[in-house]
Order: sequence, then structure tokens, then C-alpha cells
Amino acid sequence: MRRALIAANWKMHGSRDFIRELVGQLLPSLSNGVNGVDLVLCPPFPYLAQVAELSRGAELILGAQNICSEHEGAFTGEISGRMLADFKVRYVIVGHSERRKLMAENDALVARKFVAAQASGLIPVLCVGETLDERNSGNAAQVVEQQLSAVLEGSGVEALRSAVIAYEPVWAIGTGCSASTSQAQDMHASIRRMIAEHDPEVAQSVQIVYGGSVTPDNAPDLFSQPDIDGGLIGGASLNAESFIRICQSVS
Ligand code: PEP
Repeated sequence: MRRALIAANWKMHGSRDFIRELVGQLLPSLSNGVNGVDLVLCPPFPYLAQVAELSRGAELILGAQNICSEHEGAFTGEISGRMLADFKVRYVIVGHSERRKLMAENDALVARKFVAAQASGLIPVLCVGETLDERNSGNAAQVVEQQLSAVLEGSGVEALRSAVIAYEPVWAIGTGCSASTSQAQDMHASIRRMIAEHDPEVAQSVQIVYGGSVTPDNAPDLFSQPDIDGGLIGGASLNAESFIRICQSVS
């Protein structure tokens, strides 16, 4: 039986005051956790320590939004996995479509970041997903397979035992237009089939979460699907009431 995971991706939003208020609003409902669900908060880097402090003793896990592919050295502006681990970060998002598109991160770099995360003891949340054009031209599964293959080639299928996959169709991120329940379930099942070709047991055990305009309204249906193990939540995670309802909708 796979555990569920809900991760909040706050992207480049917030301030110390905003985060104090948001975490303060989350704690009464989430500090004791939600049964069977890993709850992860991914603030922007400068606020990691603040979130760690505010959520001390609570069942909330710290995550980061990015990682450098290198461990140390002359890489101005970058942040290594070791540094994240030093701040008790446990999860790190790699390959988010905003970074693939806006920061020109390609599959090879994402694969190296995945390796760097695991080398530092972090659990990578590997984002994969197709654009609207790719979906409309019937290539969605092929695109996702290529993104996944880059990591499998670099790390091997066993590496997925300590990783999370986030299926995030690019056209659904921040658009208010979520994938339908069946579109999401079909792709999650397809990802599991791709992994099963390498190792059926890993395919059954890896957590695959969905991201893309998840709201309290669509979350219960999405999370009830057999291959959807939770969500990566952007916009709705900036509102405490929405995020709490999303977390509590995992059955
Ligand atoms: C995301 O940023 O990973 C995301 C899924 O965003 P949103 O929930 O706003 O679509």
C-alpha cells in the first residue's frame, strides 16, 4: 500500500509576514498530520529556516524548489543538496516545467539534479509532463517517457525507490484548467507501465502525484484514482483553507 503525499509549491511567493501567517493558519489542522499522508512544504529558499522553525514538532516536512547539480564550488547563486540537507530539507523538486521552460533546464541537467539530490540524502520530486501542443499531437506519453528515461538512464530504476514522480501537464499548471480525472489517471497508469518494464515492484511502490490546478473541488476525484498518490499543489497551497481541504481530501 503506497502512502499519499501532498506537497505545497509556493514558487516565488511570500514574505516573512505572509509565511508566518500561512504556517500559523495551517498548524491547527495539519500539525498532527493527516493519516497516511506525507505533508511537504516547499517555500522559496530564504524562508526554509523560518518554516522549519515555525513548524518545529509538527508533522510537516520541509522541501525545496530547486537544487544545484554540483555539491560545492564556484557556482555563484546556486544552492547545493548538502546545504539543503543542512537545513533539514527532505524533499526537493527537480524538473519543474517552469524551470525547464524559463531556465532552460533540459533532461540531462534534470537527471544530474536528481543524482545530486539523492547523493545528499534528499528525496527528489521529479516533475514530468507534456505541453498542450504535445498532447494535441498525440505525443504526451512519449514526451513523459523521454523525460523519465533520462533519469532512469542516469540513476537506474532502483533509484525510484527513494523518489517521487509528479505528473504535471504543462497546460494545467497555473491555468485553472486541471487535467480531467481520466486524463490524469491514464497518464499515471502509463508512467507505472513504463517503470514496470524495468522493475514491476518499483512501479507498484513509487509514489506518483498529480500537479496542475488542483483545488479543493477537484482534489477528491483526482486523489481517488488508483494510480494517483496525492498532489503537488501550487496556487491553492498559498491559501490555508484550500490547502487544508486538499490535504484532508486524500482518503
Ligand atoms: C505547480 O507549480 O507545480 C503547480 C501544480 O501549480 P498550480 O497548482 O498552481 O497549477
